[in-house]
Amino acid sequence: MSDDCIFCKIIRGELPSKKVHEDDTVYAFEDINPQAPVHVVIIPKEHYDSVLSVPAGSDIISHIHTVANRIALKLDVADSGFRLVNNCGADGGQTVPHLHYHLLGGRSLQWPPG
Ligand code: 5GP
Ligand code: ZN
Repeated sequence: MSDDCIFCKIIRGELPSKKVHEDDTVYAFEDINPQAPVHVVIIPKEHYDSVLSVPAGSDIISHIHTVANRIALKLDVADSGFRLVNNCGADGGQTVPHLHYHLLGGRSLQWPPG
């Protein structure tokens, strides 16, 4: 946990969020500024600044993907398709320094991204 991290505050319930999923190690909630009809942010409860900080041998990334699959099914975008995105660092577009994945769906997404 990091005292001044907004996603750690969301996990602790100090900031409001619209919860989509929670288990022992992962929390998922609706993005405050959705870029698609379905836009869920999936985060580990343990604070990592980015995906670069995840130790080798950790199963947290695998578990996040499993959770993403479950959320895609629950929100009915599994059949139509969805995108799972991790922005890492400044050029990657990461604005919140707590590891997270975006699950986007509900519309046809463009490629390449901007
Ligand atoms: P990044 O740009 O770091 O990849 O993604 C951060 C995401 O977190 C953005 O899509 C942004 O809209 C979302 N976000 C930032 N602050 C909050 C917040 O307080 N609540 C929620 N629900 N989402 C947030
Ligand atoms: Zn954090």
